[in-house]
Amino acid sequence: MKLPTLVSLVLPALVAADTCATLASQNPEITQLKRSDKAFTPTLSYWSAACAAQQPSCILLPKSSSEVSTIIRALGTTTEPFAVKSGGHNPNCGFASVAGGPLVSLQYLNEVAYDAAARTVRVGPGNRWHNVSAALQGTGMTVVGGRMGEVGVGGYMLGGGLSFLSGQYGWAADNVVAYEVVLADGRIVNATAGQNRELFAALKGGGNKFGVVTAFTLRAHPQGEVWGGVIAFTGGNTPAMLRAIRDYTEYNTDAKAGIIATAELTGLNLVDIWILFLFYDAPAPPPGVFANFTQIPHLLDTTKRRSYHDLLTFNNGFVLKNQIYTIGTETTPLPAAEAQPVMQELYSAWHTAAASVARVSGVVASLAFQPLPKSIPAISTQAGGLVTGWDTAQDRIVLELDYSYWYPRDNAAIDGAMNATIGGLKGVVERNVAAKVLPEVKLPLFMNDGYFRQDYWGRIGGGSREKWGRIRRKFDAQGLWSRTGGFAL
Ligand SMILES: Cc1cc2nc3c(=O)[nH]c(=O)nc-3n(C[C@H](O)[C@H](O)[C@H](O)COP(=O)(O)OP(=O)(O)OC[C@H]3O[C@@H](n4cnc5c(N)ncnc54)[C@H](O)[C@@H]3O)c2cc1C
Repeated sequence: MKLPTLVSLVLPALVAADTCATLASQNPEITQLKRSDKAFTPTLSYWSAACAAQQPSCILLPKSSSEVSTIIRALGTTTEPFAVKSGGHNPNCGFASVAGGPLVSLQYLNEVAYDAAARTVRVGPGNRWHNVSAALQGTGMTVVGGRMGEVGVGGYMLGGGLSFLSGQYGWAADNVVAYEVVLADGRIVNATAGQNRELFAALKGGGNKFGVVTAFTLRAHPQGEVWGGVIAFTGGNTPAMLRAIRDYTEYNTDAKAGIIATAELTGLNLVDIWILFLFYDAPAPPPGVFANFTQIPHLLDTTKRRSYHDLLTFNNGFVLKNQIYTIGTETTPLPAAEAQPVMQELYSAWHTAAASVARVSGVVASLAFQPLPKSIPAISTQAGGLVTGWDTAQDRIVLELDYSYWYPRDNAAIDGAMNATIGGLKGVVERNVAAKVLPEVKLPLFMNDGYFRQDYWGRIGGGSREKWGRIRRKFDAQGLWSRTGGFAL
């Protein structure tokens, strides 16, 4: 007689195990929504309608790190796919959404606790940045966070986080004092500069491959009234805008200033405009800081003195809603003044690729130029740096690409356009590096803007994938986090 092996006894049990059913019977204290529950669909809120269309087997809504731990232990007894969601603003479906496995939504982990003595703020990942700024109003303090208030805290922080305050304080992740983390085996640990140091370093740009962060303790910074808003320009001003972006990135020395310059193009080129987000960390910018831009004739100017919270909620108004979105990124060294034509080449590469989907219903293509002057990596390096290892060799521009559109039938066309756009931008950079028009420097990708097909870990270079992979396996020997989306490591 053939005796059953341990594997043949255990494996069917693992495969059959169902986290939703197990937790419903053994841990009824953990809030769980089934597909038949009225609140199920409204709770599946994502920036991209495509991610909202993915149906998890249930939604688990933990109220504490110990409930997260119970969920993670239960997941460890199954082979199901799953996802962990904070704000749901990452449009790469499968990263924070899942079809057919449990979704762990962290929306109830939404504390914002200011500790005046320690000058820190403990922030739950389930917050959105406008909840954080609202809670801190009246304290005279803030934290380094999102530029659009509705973006979620969890994903943003774990991707590094580029902020209007980055010129002064570095990436958002540079301002983390402590992470509270649930590891793959269910243990709840703290990671700080002195405790679980490898984990602390890995979470700064490491995404969802090291654990579920249940609280971020962030350094608090003084915050008074700010100046900011949006200025819009017609597409006819593109050469002037490209010159202004380049010059601003190189010459601006005022750390309190921040911009995002976004070119927007709708289907059939009906609308071809620039939206410039401006920020200054005082009630008024000193004369001249934004002169490169303000001297260009504009269509609309909403900049004014306001509270920081007001600015974040105001900026929400410029975020399109209820569409399907894709996001992607490339990084370019800042061209020197005499290499200004490279700016036009980048713009044209985007414009050409975007034009290929001009007939897709509801399509809006955008290309955002996000200055990354070397002063930001300099602050970051002092704080220990991100996993991405941005160095101070060169000013850079982080390019963010977005396509939004209406119908899933166009997914393949937009995927093709996104790949072509990324390839086009990369091609411009590589050609100009080869021709020595651009300097040859490290060009990592910014996780928060990454397309799921991009090789985030590979682009870090220097054996980093292996190094961070080893650390990942140390904290996740069974490969639990491989069962959820995100940039594979
Ligand atoms: C309109 C808009 C504006 C944006 N502006 C900025 C900006 O100014 N600066 C910037 O840096 N980025 C910006 N982004 C990008 C944004 O930071 C990323 O999309 C980020 O992933 C969103 O965070 P979230 O919590 O909403 O993500 P989710 O979609 O909930 O999650 C994203 C990823 O993070 C993982 N994750 C989330 N929370 C946790 C957690 N607690 N523990 C472990 N893993 C977790 C998820 O599993 C998923 O893989 C913007 C995006 C949009 C759509």
